[in-house]
Formats: sequence, C-alpha cells, structure tokens
Amino acid sequence: MTLKDLPPLRDSLSDHGLLAKKSFGQHFLLDLNITRKIARLAGPLDGQTVIEVGPGPGGLTRALLEAGAKVVAIEKDARFSALLHQLAELADGALTVVEDDALKADEAALLAGVPGHVVSNLPYNVGTPLLIKWLTRPWRPVSMTLMFQKEVADRIAAPVGDDAYGRLSVIAQAVCEAKVVMDLPPRAFTPPPKVSSAVVRLDPKPDALDPALLANLEKVTAAAFGQRRKMLRSSLKVLGGEALCAAAGIEPEARAETVDVAGFLRLAEQL
Ligand code: SAM
Repeated sequence: MTLKDLPPLRDSLSDHGLLAKKSFGQHFLLDLNITRKIARLAGPLDGQTVIEVGPGPGGLTRALLEAGAKVVAIEKDARFSALLHQLAELADGALTVVEDDALKADEAALLAGVPGHVVSNLPYNVGTPLLIKWLTRPWRPVSMTLMFQKEVADRIAAPVGDDAYGRLSVIAQAVCEAKVVMDLPPRAFTPPPKVSSAVVRLDPKPDALDPALLANLEKVTAAAFGQRRKMLRSSLKVLGGEALCAAAGIEPEARAETVDVAGFLRLAEQL
C-alpha cells in the first residue's frame, strides 16, 4: 500500500474510533483538495523539511508528504498515535511523529540543524502563543503557512491604520512579510467551528532582529496598544513618554494605531 491507496480521512477516523475533542481545538480538514491547496500555498516543498503542529487525522500531513516534504509532526493528543504511525510506515522515512505539546517543543533539536518550514492548521486555543514563539525565539522557520481564526489572521496582516492593526501586527510584520492567502468558511471543517478561518503565509525577513531590540519592541507595543485610545506621550509615559517619542521622531500626540512598524522599531531602538 502507498499513500495514494489510503482510505478517505473520514474512514481513517472511524476505523480508529476517533471523535474530535474540543479541549484540543480539534476541527479537522477532511477534504484533501483543501489540504493540497494549503500545501501548495506553503510551497514549493519538494525536498524541504516541514514541522506540522497537530496532524490529527493526517489530512494536511498527507498533502505535505505528496508535495515531497519531509515532515516532523508534533501531536499532543495520544489517541492519534496508531493512525499517525501507520501513516509514517507508508511514508517510508519521510514522516516523523512526535508526541508532545508544541508549546514546549524544541524545534532546533527536532530538526537537528536542518532548516525547516512550519505548516499547520493550528489549534485555535494555542495559535497566537505558538506564533509568538516562532517570531521571537532563536529558532527561525524558513517560512510559516498557518491556519488561524479569521479575526487573528486579519490582525497578523493588518496594515497601519486598520481597525485590526495592533501588537500582533507590529511584531509579526517587524519579523516577517505577512499575507492572508486563503479564507475558509466553518463548513470546511469537521466539526465546524463557530467562526471563519484563514491561512496566513509569513516569510521571515533576511536579517533577524536583535533579541534585545525585539524585547524592547514587545515592551513598547504592550504599553502603546494597552491604552490604544491614548496619545503616546501618555501611554508610553513609564518608558520615557515625550522624550522617547522625540528621540524616535514620532509625534507625542499620535495614537498607537497611526504609528507604522518602522516607527515602532525606532521607539524600540531608542528605549
Ligand atoms: N491537522 C489536522 C487537520 O487539519 O485536520 C488537525 C487540525 S486541528 C485544528 C488541531 C490539532 O492540533 C489537533 O490534532 C490537536 O489534537 C492538536 N493540538 C492541540 N493542541 C496542541 C499542542 N499544544 N501541541 C501539539 N498539538 C496540539
């Protein structure tokens, strides 16, 4: 048997007696046309190494393997172990299954120095903390193609001045080029979530930000967007207020949502 001969995902789930668990954020993609499209949006992946968080029944995993990727799949729910190991046998060395919490996983150690992409239909409950981890920790993915709730995807890619523009937009766009590349309605998932979803493609900029600058960026954006209706001279008061704004060439009367990513980077530099 090869990957192409596998039964439909719905049958794989029922063969293993698996039902989705809400506590693990399980909303499965059982249509291989959709998972193949996500793999294409993440591509080209032939010969590339990919970390997939939360393979679950393995729909996206199958598509990544078909695209020629080597996949390291991190799944927290041990109920999927038998099904995923069966897939790994068919994948003939191209799939490694790791039973772990992706928040705690050490990507650099898992990949043993090989550069890797991240592709995932993320569990909604840990999507943002996982993205922050990949944006701010020393291990840098080659690219990330990630499914989020639509509202979170919009925040990641929002331009300055947009209602969705906030802390996540600034940190994501300081580190990466970020773009929403696909929208999916609730009915695309089993069981359907309450909200729509979207895939974001993030490509890290060639030069990594200095860790101290990134830490300052986190501080400045937390203060500025924590009180987004206030003028910066007041919301940034504890960090230097008016003097900090002047040093960074930002109007102290400006509000957080009108300051672009370059402006926040200047504030972080001056802090
Ligand atoms: N990739 C599958 C698909 O597209 O059908 C499943 C996606 S489902 C939205 C999220 C998956 O992440 C589930 O399989 C869930 O068990 C797993 N998961 C949840 N929290 C996790 C964590 N902290 N670490 C690793 N996997 C996790």
